[in-house]
Order: sequence, then structure tokens, then C-alpha cells
Amino acid sequence: MENNAAENLLAAFAHFFPNAKTIGSFVDGDLVEGTGELIQLYDAATGKPSLAYKDGGAAVVELAADAAQRAQKQWWALTHAARGRVMFEIARELRKDTESIARLESLGSGKPIRDCRGEVAKVAEMFEYYGGWADKFYGDVIPVPTSHLNYTRREPAGTVLQITPWNAPVFTCGWQVAPAISMGNAVLLKPSELTPFTSLVVGLLAEKAGAPKGLINVLAGLGQTVAQAAIAHKVVKKVVFVGSPATGVRIAEAAAKRVLPCVLELGGKSANIIFADADLKRAALTAQAAIFAGAGQSCVAGSRLLVQRSIYDEFVGMIATGAKKIRVGAPLDDATEVGPINNRTQYDHIMKMIASGVQAGATLAAGSAERSSGGYFVSPAVLSNVTNEMDVARTEIFGPVVAAIPFDTEEEALNIANDTEFGLAGAVWTNDVGRAHRVAGQVNAGTFWVNGYKTINVASPFGGYGLSGYGRSSGVEALYEYTQTKSVWVETASEPATTFGYL
Ligand code: NAD
Repeated sequence: MENNAAENLLAAFAHFFPNAKTIGSFVDGDLVEGTGELIQLYDAATGKPSLAYKDGGAAVVELAADAAQRAQKQWWALTHAARGRVMFEIARELRKDTESIARLESLGSGKPIRDCRGEVAKVAEMFEYYGGWADKFYGDVIPVPTSHLNYTRREPAGTVLQITPWNAPVFTCGWQVAPAISMGNAVLLKPSELTPFTSLVVGLLAEKAGAPKGLINVLAGLGQTVAQAAIAHKVVKKVVFVGSPATGVRIAEAAAKRVLPCVLELGGKSANIIFADADLKRAALTAQAAIFAGAGQSCVAGSRLLVQRSIYDEFVGMIATGAKKIRVGAPLDDATEVGPINNRTQYDHIMKMIASGVQAGATLAAGSAERSSGGYFVSPAVLSNVTNEMDVARTEIFGPVVAAIPFDTEEEALNIANDTEFGLAGAVWTNDVGRAHRVAGQVNAGTFWVNGYKTINVASPFGGYGLSGYGRSSGVEALYEYTQTKSVWVETASEPATTFGYL
């Protein structure tokens, strides 16, 4: 055992997998150790080495693909209602063990424990929501102009591959697994190699709740090995990816070689637009949460704060004052509002971006360009006097750093908001109802809030415009992604016409 971090992590993991000496993949109901290169994890709160485990590699994909194919047949042979009941049971298992899952998530990702508790509850909600859909999403009867009965069936894709990032591991797992199995698919889930723990637990609890062995296989390992081998595997029929645009492109390229459909949920650089007539106190509190919650490691983070010039100094002052009061601390401390950054690479990127903003002429109104002494902690940072041309306004920082940009008119605010390749989310703060709707209708983004930020729900569709990706997750739209439509023609005439060609 390397140290306390590894011991604590393994103890939290052992609550679910009592005999585990290390972690591996969850395949066909068993925890399978990898055989590839050693993946060393680090404790985000101290920067010290934590657990190490072996990459699953192509071998684990082979095992999982076989198991998934078998399990999918069993799962699809159940009635729709029976699948729904199992999903409600999964939700119950998750709720029963919320505290242990949250603790494992916090230890394994550096996220504050209170955020983790909330996210586990959301995952349970996802299984309930999509459990309810299992017998309520079906085809149509089409009134065709011939003697046929023509109807459509919504059929599962078969086995789907899901590749997820490290910023919200259990949340993203539930977000994609629940609609997939609700529609009768089996899953190969490749979580980030940095945060596989709670996804393994979801796989285990699903089986405990009655899902067939092999229905949810969680593959622990690297993207270049495990995920790429899975994309190339003939059993995989669809790829759903949540992560960075650069990786999304690589995945879509590999998938295109097999004509595999993809959903890409990528990054963002969302504009939070504050007009002078808004409720500034509420806007300021929400703008802080929009960027600093989760230490800014959120795809929808309100990372560009567009503020009308007449209130710019006052409003940015409010945000900077608030930022300094945020409790940054240890992940397991109940009082912690912002924990460390998940990993060293991301931490280095954030610190480099803060320095680049200052170098380009922005003012650091809160936060620090100094590195923390232990762990990957970044104080909530406010960069003021930013222009939209600066790198800090164009590149996704994915950390607790907000770039505050002044504007004069509604037209200018819209031009700045849309001057980005991304299109994931955005918000407007104003008491002018006409302006609220005008702006909501003109910002290029898949999710938009009026006088609010970051409310999301499993019932509402979510996804990107432009570089933020394509396809939709959540809501009924996710069910279209996880099914394919078959059109069935049944001849009903007693003496049907037989033609040579199309009828
Ligand atoms: P990443 O792209 O580096 O990794 C995501 C996943 O892809 C991991 O599982 C990784 O192992 C895998 N991967 C890496 N290289 C691969 C390759 N060559 N082939 C196949 N798979 C590969 O992203 P990250 O750093 O883990 O996460 C941060 C990014 O995720 C940010 O850009 C963030 O905005 C985005 N994100 C988007 C959403 C959304 O819903 N739109 C949600 C959360 C995070």
C-alpha cells in the first residue's frame, strides 16, 4: 500500500467490493484486474501518489463485448415494464448507499462531499425517470395510402459505448447509462482513467437490483487503449462521448470508420450576461455559483461574465468580494464549498491561463497567480478588464476563473456572447421581459437561463451547438439517441397488387 490516500480510497471501495486488493473493470458481474500499463493516481488534496491499477486494454473489451451481447438479449427479452421495475430497484440501491458512494466519489475525485451527495441523489432520479419511460416510449401507426398496415418500432441499438470525463463521474455515468438501458441496450462504459470508482459501483448495484450480469460493464483504463479498442469492436453499435472537443474529434474519426453514430457532449465557454436593470444581488450570487461551484470544472460554467458598462465596476467588485469569501478546503470537510482541481495536468493548465490573462492586460481582482503548496487548490479567481479577444475569453479554462468583459448595448452583448466556437450554455439577467426573450432566442447555445444559472434536470434536453457537440442527452430526446426506428409494412388486402418496383 502506497500511503493513506490509497488506503482510504481502497477502504471506501471495499464497502462495495469487499475482496478487492486494487481496482479493475466490472465485467460480466466480476471485478477483473487489468494486464496493461500501470495507471498511477494522485490525491488531489495533497498531490501525493494514491492508488495504482493496471489498464484493462483490449483484452477487457473482448470479455465485456461478449458479456454485453449476451446480457442485451436477456434484457430485451423482458417486458418493458419489467425493465422499468429493475431500474426503480437500482435507484433504491443508490439511495440506500448514498453516503458511501458520495464518500468514494469525494475521495476518488477531490470533489466536495456535499456536491457528491447531491450528485448521487440525481443519479437515483435518473434511473427513476428513465425507469418510468421504459414502457412509455414506442412507435407509431402511419396512415399510408396503400392497403398496408405500416407501423414503427423503437428498437435498441444493441451494445452502446459510453466514454466519460473526470469532472462528475457518477453523475455522468447515471446520465448516460439510465436512458441506454431503459431502451433495452447493454452498455460498455469507459469512465475517465482518473475516476473509475463510482461507475464501478453503479455497475455492481445494478446487478444487485436485478439487471443481468454483463448488462453494464465498466472498463477501467485509458482512452487510447480501452476506448479505442471498444470503438473498433464489432459488437459496439453507438458511441456516446462526454469530454473535450479534441478527444471528441478523435472519437468521431474512429467511429466514422465503422459508420457508428455518435453523440458528442463537449466543452463550453458560456456567456453569463448581466444588464444594468437586473437584480444585481441575486445575479452576483448566482454568477459566483455559475463559475466557482465544482471549482469551475463544469462544462456549463459561466466562464465569460458579460457586464453592462454602467454597473461593471460595482458588479465585478461584488463578484470579487464574494469570491474571497468562498470556503476552499478539503474534499471530505462538510463546510468545503470548493475543493481541489481533480488532477495535475488540469491544475497546471488553469494556473497557466490565469498568468496568461494577467500578461494580456487583465486585472486579477480576486484569486492568485501563485501555486498552492500542497494539492491542486486554486482560489476562486476574477479577471477583470478582459476583452473577448484574449485567450482567457476564448479557451476553455475548466477551473474557478471568470473572465469579466464589459459591454454597452444589447447588440454588443449578443455579438460578444456569440463570438466563440462553443455553444453549450448561457444566461441573461434583466428585468425587461422582452429583452430576456430576445437574448434567449439569439444566443447560440443548447441551454439558456433567464435570471438564473445551472438549473438542469433529467427531464430537460441537454447538448451543444457548434464545438460543444451534437446529439442530445436527458429528457425524451435521449431516448431517440438510444433507439433506432424500424418501419414494418403488413399487407392487409385479400388480393394484394404485386408490382415490379415500388408500390
Ligand atoms: P478528455 O476528453 O480528456 O477525456 C474524456 C474521456 O475520453 C476519458 O474517459 C478519456 O480516457 C477518454 N479519452 C481520452 N483520449 C482518448 C482517445 N484518444 N480515444 C478514446 N477515448 C479517449 O476530457 P476530460 O479532461 O476528462 O474532461 C474535461 C472535458 O469534458 C471538458 O472539455 C469539459 O467541458 C467536457 N465535459 C463536457 C460535458 C458536456 O456534457 N458537454 C460534461 C462534462 C465535461
